[in-house]
Amino acid sequence: MKKKIVKTDDEWKRILTPEQYRVLRTGGTECAFAGAYYKYKNNGVYACAGCGQELFRSSKKFESGTGWPSFFEPVDRDCITEKKDTSHGMVRTEVLCSRCDGHLGHVFSDGPAPSGLRYCINSAALVFKPEKAGLPDGKLETATFGSGCFWCSDAAFRMLDGVKSVEVGYMGGDKKNPTYKEVCTGTTGHAEISRVTFDPTKVTYDGLLEIFWKIHDPTTLNRQGNDVGTQYRSVIFYHSPEQKAAAEKSRDELQKTMAKKIVTEITPASEFYRAEDYHQDYYSNNQQAPYCRAVVQPKLEKVKEHLKKDVSRK
Ligand SMILES: [Zn+2]
Repeated sequence: MKKKIVKTDDEWKRILTPEQYRVLRTGGTECAFAGAYYKYKNNGVYACAGCGQELFRSSKKFESGTGWPSFFEPVDRDCITEKKDTSHGMVRTEVLCSRCDGHLGHVFSDGPAPSGLRYCINSAALVFKPEKAGLPDGKLETATFGSGCFWCSDAAFRMLDGVKSVEVGYMGGDKKNPTYKEVCTGTTGHAEISRVTFDPTKVTYDGLLEIFWKIHDPTTLNRQGNDVGTQYRSVIFYHSPEQKAAAEKSRDELQKTMAKKIVTEITPASEFYRAEDYHQDYYSNNQQAPYCRAVVQPKLEKVKEHLKKDVSRK
């Protein structure tokens, strides 16, 4: 059992802001689209504003469109207590901080995979703690992969701890500053790619390669499922001789386990052209779109399974 934190109302009033007090100690709800964190995307952990217990990771946050920060999973099962709430003529499940019994919000069963849960939490009940700084930005590394539609690889690489950012764009063609429309004609020579900035002390290039192979079929030439064209080719753009060697090695290892020939191109990185803003982090912003549900989501399930295995192996 966790050691409970118990304070009198007066004590709580002294350490909390009036809004934190209203939410945490009296079960209040902040106005939608008004809190500090509903749109917040930085990497880190959301802790209880009352007692500091860590409750939700930013990697488990999603855009629900409700105007409250929404998560599909808490940090662990023990940090949250659930309680039946029949107020306001509804039957809901209230969630509280297990350490200080502060009211956080409610949990609903209409969340995204894999949990199917939506923890709808008041910003006022949370304080955000940025991820502990790993390497300084100057020591981060870059990796670039094309594996079909870039919405998929973007979402997949974002799931990894140690990935600082992902940008989608175009690489490998002749046309300068291509538009999405031009790339889709298949005449620019560009591939749709995800450029991943990562902290090599937290995730290795080999680890990224594993995800790359997982999320697409490297044996179909210029095609992923219904997406056909050279812009969907399987390609690794390497940024160093070490990356080239690692990419070739992992391809050869994988080939041993596959009957069909791997057609993935392994080629030096060339100029990166960032794709239009609406393509960046597309999945988070369009989770309900049919393509995201049908194509992206199953890939993310695979990544999730892979990461679970990976963790248990260690
Ligand atoms: Zn608490």
